[in-house]
Amino acid sequence: ATRLLEVVARPFDLDGQIVTVGTSIGLAVAPEDGVDTGGLLKKADLALYRAKSEGRNSFKFFDVEMSKDSTARLQLVNDMRVALSRTEFELHYQPVFNVKIRRTCGVEALVRWRHPVVGLMAPDRFIWLAEETGLMEPLGEWILEKACADATLWPENIKVAVNLSAAQFRTDKLYDVIVSALAKSGLAPERLELEITESVLLLNKENYGDTIRRLKDLGISIFLDDFGTAYSSLSYLTMYPFDKIKIDKSFTQGLSNRADCAAVVASVLTLARGLDIAVTAEGVETREQFELLRAAGVDEVQGYLFGRPTPVGELSFLASEPMRENDEAA
Ligand code: C2E
Ligand code: CA
Ligand code: CA
Repeated sequence: ATRLLEVVARPFDLDGQIVTVGTSIGLAVAPEDGVDTGGLLKKADLALYRAKSEGRNSFKFFDVEMSKDSTARLQLVNDMRVALSRTEFELHYQPVFNVKIRRTCGVEALVRWRHPVVGLMAPDRFIWLAEETGLMEPLGEWILEKACADATLWPENIKVAVNLSAAQFRTDKLYDVIVSALAKSGLAPERLELEITESVLLLNKENYGDTIRRLKDLGISIFLDDFGTAYSSLSYLTMYPFDKIKIDKSFTQGLSNRADCAAVVASVLTLARGLDIAVTAEGVETREQFELLRAAGVDEVQGYLFGRPTPVGELSFLASEPMRENDEAA
């Protein structure tokens, strides 16, 4: 396997263009791993999958742990297909609080899966799998439709933010899906906000930029989510028409004890002001964090201090009453 990796990795000349090829190898050994061809190939495939997931240009031997992983994974994918048809997914909404007007100005839709056996599952446990298996598209469509429909029942000053996955951009349907969700629900496009992360922009596809601009032309707002966590190329801020930057919770939570976090927040604010982009800080859990952010000039805040993600039936917009100067938040 090592020799094969070496041989294939040598650069070769393709019409004057120097090309290199990456290789991953999965191995299953007879008779230890089995003696039938089909079974052996399947195991070699699992080993290959593991080799790939651990980085290119390597090889892996099959071991039994891999087959446990893959059974659990397969089970979850099957469950997810069923869950989509039975609508086991739910949207919870977390309030976003406007610092200047001291009111709730919107909510962020956060998906959960009420799995019949496992119970309530957080998105980190299934979104990646939905993305890998093509299920993010139907799930994303359901999320958009549900969020728009729910929002029509709320006061008009309450906006709804929906997270978009890079997988939803991969097909050309995203624009139509969003237009249809707005049309079906009758929600004004000005009340819909879309959150995208840099992972979408890193793919650097020209038509993604087009889609973003067309959505913005409809009146929808576009947010750059998790700012500061990934590559954070400042050029994205001028390349795409963002209405708002969401500073990642890791910076909010480091504010009171880490000088670098305060520096990042301050420079994001300076930059955003110059580009006429609003700034939201996520993950605000303490009064101290809130005061620091307010003093720094952040426009909106979101976090457990103002409310946790809540099922739609338990949402109360009483929190949108103005907060008095000496009130404890939430
Ligand atoms: P995100 O977009 O950064 O969402 C914010 C996450 O921070 C949420 O986790 C929220 O519950 C959590 N959070 C809010 N306030 C606080 C706080 O004060 N302290 C702490 N420690 N955490 C707080 P959640 O709901 O588990 O979602 C995790 C991630 O899953 C989201 O991160 C988002 O990337 C993804 N996600 C959630 N819903 C959707 C969805 O409908 N579509 C897509 N594509 N992704 C989603
Ligand atoms: Ca988000
Ligand atoms: Ca975020």
